[in-house]
Amino acid sequence: MSEHGQERSPVLQLENVVKEYDGNPPVQVLHGIDLTVREGELLAVVGPSGSGKSTLLSLIGTLDRPTSGRIHLEGRDLTDLSDRQVAALRARRIGFVFQQFFLLSGLTAVENVATGLLYTGETVRRRQERAESALRDVGLAHRFDHRPDQLSGGEKQRVAIARALVGQPGLLLADEPTGALDTGAGKGVVDLLLKLNAQGTTVVVITHDRDLAASLPRQVGIQDGRIAFDACTDAPFSWSSAQGGSA
Ligand code: ADP
Ligand code: MG
Repeated sequence: MSEHGQERSPVLQLENVVKEYDGNPPVQVLHGIDLTVREGELLAVVGPSGSGKSTLLSLIGTLDRPTSGRIHLEGRDLTDLSDRQVAALRARRIGFVFQQFFLLSGLTAVENVATGLLYTGETVRRRQERAESALRDVGLAHRFDHRPDQLSGGEKQRVAIARALVGQPGLLLADEPTGALDTGAGKGVVDLLLKLNAQGTTVVVITHDRDLAASLPRQVGIQDGRIAFDACTDAPFSWSSAQGGSA
């Protein structure tokens, strides 16, 4: 754990990334971010409200482009790609989880997860099988046919995580994934992210929750659009071990 991915290849590299929003005058929100995330890492981006965390997530998730600076995703310089190429890369290689779940209310859990595979061109049957398998991975084998209004908050977030991961992206990005959950359900989601990371998923979690951040192996602090600290914890705190339970 302490080698912390020294020899692993970078999934994400940001070089001097600046983001300015239009306005009169324009507002610079990120002032030159350098950040490398390697395969298999699990890191928290932490900072107060308004510090630029969600802006950073939209850039590394390729939902928006930087004003200047470079971003490499799995070795590819996004500057060189057209919007169409970037969208294709995003669909295949990045999974998103947000505070508000964004599940479709008329669809079952399986159908919601299967929407994460629409770009693949696979048959409905095959997408359903993969969605069921992803739901098993997040502990929801008993909730396949439930619609969002029949699920608890924690279960909804697990469905959203299954949808983000069903296409086997190289990078999972989560923006305040426990922000709408009570403490117990939040711990469940953090435990799930730890488990998925232990199985090989690279995860970036954005949070203003210092306890959540402290439970992850690496914490990157953002303050006023700059990196304030970048710290590794050799022995990450685990909710499961703290509770004396099995992982
Ligand atoms: P955080 O997620 O850390 O709370 P954000 O990235 O959402 O922070 O916002 C950082 C700053 O950028 C805030 O001052 C916010 O008002 C500003 N901001 C965010 N999005 C826009 C936008 N589309 N246009 C102008 N300013 C924005
Ligand atoms: Mg935010």
